[in-house]
Amino acid sequence: MSQEIIGRIYDIQGFSVHDGPGIRTSVFLSGCPLSCLWCHNPESVPFHYVLSYTSVKCIGIEKCGLCLSTCKKNAIKASQPNYSPLSESDITLIDVDRKKCTDCLDCTQVCKPRALIASGKDMKLEDVMARILKDRAYFNNSGGGLTISGGEALAQIDFTVALLKAAKNENIHTCLDTTGFAAWKTLERTLPYVDLYLYDLKHMDPNQHQKYTGVSNELILENAQKLVTAGGKIQFRFPIIPGVNDSAKNLHATGKFIKALGPSIQLLQLLPYHQLGLLKYDKLGKENELKHLKSPSDAVMQEYKQLLESYFTPIQIH
Ligand code: SF4
Ligand code: SF4
Repeated sequence: MSQEIIGRIYDIQGFSVHDGPGIRTSVFLSGCPLSCLWCHNPESVPFHYVLSYTSVKCIGIEKCGLCLSTCKKNAIKASQPNYSPLSESDITLIDVDRKKCTDCLDCTQVCKPRALIASGKDMKLEDVMARILKDRAYFNNSGGGLTISGGEALAQIDFTVALLKAAKNENIHTCLDTTGFAAWKTLERTLPYVDLYLYDLKHMDPNQHQKYTGVSNELILENAQKLVTAGGKIQFRFPIIPGVNDSAKNLHATGKFIKALGPSIQLLQLLPYHQLGLLKYDKLGKENELKHLKSPSDAVMQEYKQLLESYFTPIQIH
């Protein structure tokens, strides 16, 4: 009997237009070895599923309250009653004490309005493929396909390779969105099945990279070079985080690095920092150290683009 191939998935999004060419279906895998301070998918970082609480979905303990009696760790408490215009009365929501919560996820089983949910779920390869194939018509009409993202997809290499292979068997274009942080032998396994790598460059200084992402960049830069040598097609993605990696020194170093890699680099995308992920930190009960950071202005992004264009084109601001 063949073994089932299971992936730890935190989300699957159709109609994605920012993760490679055309209209794509993006499969986000759970677990990442990096911990970037600006991460806008914090629920995808842990290798286990975590509890996510969306207070606006809670119908209040007056009508429900099932989670309070379910939690054996005493991590759920009633908060202060507040007037709700929706029900035209006071309702009492809950607070989750994250110091006591062990992410056992028992409470998610009783919360029918899905205010309490797990940050992902295990899925069989065939079910993920069935979901992807529903979007085939959009791929065909737009030149799109499948993008595997994360988390870090290379951390679940067996599932990632199996999914890429299954997509190629269906003649679907594939992108792998990666930090590049994995042993070369791991990354190399994806080469026969990836049409385009979406490859992050976060900082060219190893110490600064370590400071802001939790790991050094040596392996990442080495792997980018090896990918190019092995014939991989790369689109670099450079998140612009004000005060972190937007110094002239780092912009020049990034430009030089990309230029030296030669013509197999297809595109450089500049991704201005945004605050859209902040709500997710609230749902996980986590602090975001960069929450006061403002997005760079359009004019500033244009300046950075022009500077980098002296090394490499084409460049796109996302
Ligand atoms: S995940 Fe488990 S420990 Fe955490 S609040 Fe829910 S029931 Fe309690
Ligand atoms: S089980 Fe869900 S809806 Fe019910 S009180 Fe708890 S969080 Fe609210």
